[in-house]
Amino acid sequence: MKLKAVIIGATITGFASAALAHDAPSCQTSRYVETDYTICKFDPSHDDIRQFLRDEDGDILGSFEAVNAQLAKSGEQLIFAMNGGMYHKDRAPVGLYRQDGETIAKIQTKASSGNFGLLPNGVFYNHQGQFGVSETKAFTQKSVFPDNATQSGPMLVINGKLHPKFNKGSASKKIRNGVGQTKTGEIVFVKSDTPVNFYDFASLFKDQLKTPNALYLDGVISRVYSAELGRNDFGAQMGPIIGVVKPKGQTQSHAQYIANEAVLITHGDSKIMFDPLPLSGFGVYPEPSFADTAKMMSGQGEYAGVDAVFISHAHRDHFSSAKMIAYLTSNPDVRLVAPKQALEMMQADKSWDETLQSRMTIIDMEAGDAAKDITIGDIKASAVRIPHAGWPAPKRAAVQNMVYRVTLDDGVTVIHMGDADPRRQHFIPHKTHWEAKRTDTAFPPYWFLTSAAGRYILENEMNVAKSIGIHVPLEIPDDLKNSGQDYFSESGETRELGE
Ligand SMILES: [Zn+2]
Repeated sequence: MKLKAVIIGATITGFASAALAHDAPSCQTSRYVETDYTICKFDPSHDDIRQFLRDEDGDILGSFEAVNAQLAKSGEQLIFAMNGGMYHKDRAPVGLYRQDGETIAKIQTKASSGNFGLLPNGVFYNHQGQFGVSETKAFTQKSVFPDNATQSGPMLVINGKLHPKFNKGSASKKIRNGVGQTKTGEIVFVKSDTPVNFYDFASLFKDQLKTPNALYLDGVISRVYSAELGRNDFGAQMGPIIGVVKPKGQTQSHAQYIANEAVLITHGDSKIMFDPLPLSGFGVYPEPSFADTAKMMSGQGEYAGVDAVFISHAHRDHFSSAKMIAYLTSNPDVRLVAPKQALEMMQADKSWDETLQSRMTIIDMEAGDAAKDITIGDIKASAVRIPHAGWPAPKRAAVQNMVYRVTLDDGVTVIHMGDADPRRQHFIPHKTHWEAKRTDTAFPPYWFLTSAAGRYILENEMNVAKSIGIHVPLEIPDDLKNSGQDYFSESGETRELGE
């Protein structure tokens, strides 16, 4: 076996540079016939699907972390991965395994005990950019030596029909994963998140996902990695791994508008939200939809894997103590950064749980205080208190309104300003602080963009390259519409954030 040569993954396709910018999520969780599934769909004409087995020293990679570490050497990263075919005790593949045009293990065509030998079994392969899932006998008749291939078994669906040996209602329920190909060539990876028998698992591919051919990859040990879902299943060392690699050099950082001043920022694996759960828009400002709020609360879809939430100030069109307590309770990995006034509101709430406080960074600053640094894992932030708009009216001046500058994973830097007052005198004392780090994109309240002083502050005092206005009323002000400035007004809008 030529292990030395079998380095990282084989590059299977050239990808279009826009590949990962497409908006539809690749991975989704869904329920079908009383079973929960994670379903991830990729288009090999622009998604970079590869196989992984051993590192450059010939050692089994065996984990998503090891694959990511290997990819990192060439500035790459996994978007998605799953265990990709059965293996022996030493993690060497069972049945055919080819990578980068080399045969690592030979094809097996005989029936044998166990799932692999439950014929017909099959091969997931690709050759010169063309992907396929094929029953083994039909595959051997093609007599191609594909660039990459992994044999597994049994087949789940063969030319539109279920494997003949599956029994409806079988009591043999396990966590299972597999791969299918749609008529239009998309590759669909599925893992059941609750136990399922072969019949029902295969029926999902046949009837729901409409894949004429689908192959079982394994059961029990099944694991999924999805950067998008913030998912990295834990488990023992694996054999072959199939993964989708993020195009090189593409930062994949973007901002998604939720409502009012609520924005979701994603940079690779890092995710933060600003003011995500307002109590109300009072009929004047947009509110997150019910569906969006539910997704956020359950940490699903684009809201999966949020690292930290930042609260600008405790006004009700930015913050709800009850919702924030509920959110933190149901999303135990999320950290909160908030002014003391927001903490006090949560503490006064009947649903308050003081164990939540250990996950909070509470900011108690006066206007004029030097910037405070905040570090949460790969997220480096700073907070400055800038008076709320309407200053110096005492009620406004009393609000702890925070301006956060946040750098995600040494990549993209953003600023969120809450309801800052657009007077230079508040900003000048902090100029050196903001000068020390260029901000790619700021999200000022829109009144900064419709006033010359506001724009001047962003460019000069705050060292901001680009601004996107938020806190835009449902009825968009004419001066904003005519300003030529960029702003968010519709929930779900996104912008790429440059580095
Ligand atoms: Zn406010």
